[in-house]
This record gives sequence, structure tokens and C-alpha cells, in this order.
Amino acid sequence: MNIIIFGPPGAGKGTQARNLEKKLNNFQVSTGDMLRDEIKKDTNIGKKIINYMNEGKFVDDEIVNKLIKNVVFDPQKKNKLIFDGYPRTIEQAKNLDVLLTGSNQKIDFIFFLNVKKDTIIKRIEKRKMLEKRSDDDLDTILKRYDTYMETTSPVLDYYSTKSNFKEIDGGLEIAEITSKISDILKV
Ligand code: AMP
Repeated sequence: MNIIIFGPPGAGKGTQARNLEKKLNNFQVSTGDMLRDEIKKDTNIGKKIINYMNEGKFVDDEIVNKLIKNVVFDPQKKNKLIFDGYPRTIEQAKNLDVLLTGSNQKIDFIFFLNVKKDTIIKRIEKRKMLEKRSDDDLDTILKRYDTYMETTSPVLDYYSTKSNFKEIDGGLEIAEITSKISDILKV
């Protein structure tokens, strides 16, 4: 089963993806984690993207799409993908369709975690204290939220009419969200 967890920064996509990873024995596919890893390892990609990420801007579709291609075509992960933070642009959504068709896969469920801006700000400020992410300070959070509204929320239109699109109140407690998702997936 392949799943997309969709939503604004701070919606809890990563947390839910990790919970599902354990429950389903699937793989979390977090482009944010993959990009942070490139920075940590100081690769050519890492050097190129560090400023974008710290400013809350998106990394080029081309870079992200290339990272995703390797995962989608990994035979070990076939039909076991949980996308977290991808796709974030219409271009990426179209690319994902092409990759999935090319690897004989499909998306089984899209969960949209819908959260209000003030809840997001509170959550990310808390995460900043725990994880010390360089893109979690208030200015960058606001920038990331604006980028989401401008560029990522149109991706919702791409998916929201599909029968496997499920909207969930992302303002609920973590366990409540997990239980709603589990009910839908019957796991
Ligand atoms: P995340 O960990 O998903 O919150 O992502 C952290 C940052 O990584 C984002 O603010 C972007 O700068 C970058 N990033 C992650 N995923 C993508 C993506 N799909 N497209 C473009 N940039 C991304």
C-alpha cells in the first residue's frame, strides 16, 4: 500500500508517517529528511540547497524529483511507500504520477492533515526547542507557511476530487489522528 501524507508544515506529517511505518511495515519517504541528510554529508546537492532550506524556500523540483525517483524504483520499497512532504508542487505531483505508472504502482490513500496557522506556529516553536532545526525560527516558519499556501495548497485541488482522498483534522492529538487513519486503513 502506498500513501501520501499531505499538509502544511507542522501538521504532524512526519509523526504520522513514522507511526504508519511501524504499523504497516512500510517506508517513510521524507524529502525533508533526505535533503537534511545531503546537507549533513556536505554533498554537492547539500551545498546547493542549504541556503534555500534555511530561508524556508523550496528546493528545486529537479533535485527533489531525482531523489524520489531512486526510492520509487527501489524494489524493496515497492508498494510500501509513505510520502511525507512530497509532492509539494503541481510539477512534483505530476512527476510522481509518471514515476508510479512507470514502476507499476499507484497511490492507495492521500491523507490531508488540515491545521490552522496559529496551531502550526505553536507546534513548530515547541519542535524548535526539542529538535533545534535551523528552519524552525518564527520568521522562517511564517515564510514556510506562505510558501505552502502559495505553492503547495494548489496541489490539494489535484488530489481532493479523488475517491482515495481523506481529510483529517490535524489539530487533534497525535493518537487521535493515528486512530482515524488506522480506522480508514483498517489496520
Ligand atoms: P520538511 O522536513 O518536510 O518540513 O521540509 C523542510 C524543508 O525541506 C522545506 O522547507 C523545503 O525547504 C525542503 N523540502 C522538503 N521537501 C521538499 C519538496 N518536496 N520540495 C521542495 N522542497 C522541499
